[in-house]
Amino acid sequence: MVIRKCAGCGQLKNRDELIKITRSNADGTIIINPDNKKFGRSVYLCYNNSCIEAAFKKNKISKILKTSVPQELKGKLINEF
Ligand SMILES: [Zn+2]
Repeated sequence: MVIRKCAGCGQLKNRDELIKITRSNADGTIIINPDNKKFGRSVYLCYNNSCIEAAFKKNKISKILKTSVPQELKGKLINEF
């Protein structure tokens, strides 16, 4: 079991219970729930709107991924999960 920390609420959870957002090392694109072939800095979030909102509000995603994150990513996450 792999334990990761949610960037929204800070809780530790099983990797399978979290959304993974990865900035690809290869081309710098930001991918939601990539397959295991994609490598790069990653951030994890619970599957709920409050954690997504909290992480964006505190700019956690940009900080962890060390890149600017397009605002539409937030909408995409909220719509999908
Ligand atoms: Zn959370």
